[in-house]
Amino acid sequence: MHEFSLVQSMMELVQQSAAENGITRVTSVKLIVGKLIMAQPELLRFSFGVLSEGTILAGATLDIDERPLLMRCQECGNEYTPDFFEVVCPKCTGISIILSGKELHIEHYQGDSEEGDGGFEGGNGATPPAG
Ligand SMILES: [Zn+2]
Repeated sequence: MHEFSLVQSMMELVQQSAAENGITRVTSVKLIVGKLIMAQPELLRFSFGVLSEGTILAGATLDIDERPLLMRCQECGNEYTPDFFEVVCPKCTGISIILSGKELHIEHYQGDSEEGDGGFEGGNGATPPAG
């Protein structure tokens, strides 16, 4: 199950970053997953639940942002978002390139430090908390 190893390496990155920032408990993680990664969100959540047990990520919320597959034809410039990987342009049968859909990264995570005042936000996103 490839989701397991994806979650495993994602957790390692978060734990490493948390250690550097004095985070003792991670409360939420936001993942960007392109469609081409072929990871099922339910399986990612399941893997996260299993693997996070006994770590600083235990009980954290896993937020998954799925990015669609976006292709562009090199012949006619047609951009389309196929449900499945398709290199042949539906318009002119030219060969297309992938514009997006291969992403896999942690956008953002949140946690508490030992002092417990205010918490911490990590990651490279400037996204405000949802909800
Ligand atoms: Zn085309």
